Amino acid sequence: MSFIEQANKTYLENFPKESYYGRCIFLSWYCEKGTCKFCFRSTIHHKVKHAQNAKRSMASILVEAILAKKLGWNIEFLTGGYGIYPFDELLKIIQNINQILKNKVWINLGSFTEEELKQLKPYVEGICASIETVDEKLHDELCPDKPIEPYSDMLKLADKLGFKKSITIVIGLGEKQKDFELLKDFIKEHKLDRITFYALKPVSGTIFENKQGPETEYYADWIAKTRIAFPKIEIIAGTTARRYKEAGILLKAGANAITKFPATKLFGTKQAETIEHEAKKAERPLNGTLTELPNIDWNKEVDSLDLNTELKEQIKEKLKQYIKTMEKNINRIE
Ligand code: SF4
Repeated sequence: MSFIEQANKTYLENFPKESYYGRCIFLSWYCEKGTCKFCFRSTIHHKVKHAQNAKRSMASILVEAILAKKLGWNIEFLTGGYGIYPFDELLKIIQNINQILKNKVWINLGSFTEEELKQLKPYVEGICASIETVDEKLHDELCPDKPIEPYSDMLKLADKLGFKKSITIVIGLGEKQKDFELLKDFIKEHKLDRITFYALKPVSGTIFENKQGPETEYYADWIAKTRIAFPKIEIIAGTTARRYKEAGILLKAGANAITKFPATKLFGTKQAETIEHEAKKAERPLNGTLTELPNIDWNKEVDSLDLNTELKEQIKEKLKQYIKTMEKNINRIE
């Protein structure tokens, strides 16, 4: 049995065959750290375009939650906004999203104090730490202002307070195969419930601009190894507007879900269709849809929310813009 087949078997012994799309909601495009050497937020171009105080409007954030709910996507986590939103504002956003989803959410918003975590507890299911790579030397080189230790401490605190815990890992940063042992130790030490993998996307203006992202086989191998070593952990695998054809193999390698694909921008496109098709081919069909808009009275949907009238009107306006773009894509393939 090949490694991928073994991972697939392990997956199917522990989870239903359906997969899902995990939507990550960005709260702002700016990051206070902005120094991780692979990240698009570290480039001069990005910093100029997205000023330090740039925040996304509440309406535009909530539109994403409404779409996710109606299209059958899970919210992977809320992210971005490191150092941009005061804690009270963050809490309000999270409460509003809870109100829409009728569910707690996961967050990936930097490190929090014990007091803050306690305030988040009624609204937050899990805490994600963007670790990126567990090789400490490589980590310190690539993320000079984001040491592992505060995240590691936060995950331990989160465990004590009863949150679920996860990390993000980027494959292709220069890690070695043998680093898998370090990853295993990290998962065990922090009793992780979930892990999100991304394949490095070389960004122009960073030290990786002339490099290639990892081959799909190598990327899938990390996922498969993790699935075999941790049969019950939830694994989410990022794929992009360029790598989307690999969705099936990532699911076969034991991922529960696909993320990172820009599903609203590319809703109903050939790429979105291919992801659904690949998932079916891998016998891991996607719950929800990346291609078909349900026949919904969106305004009525917004009116039913317990939010103030002004915010509801702003949401309706934004939602209309999103739906228009999505319909345009669908009409383009028909
Ligand atoms: S902390 Fe995250 S968002 Fe900020 S620069 Fe580093 S990787 Fe990018």
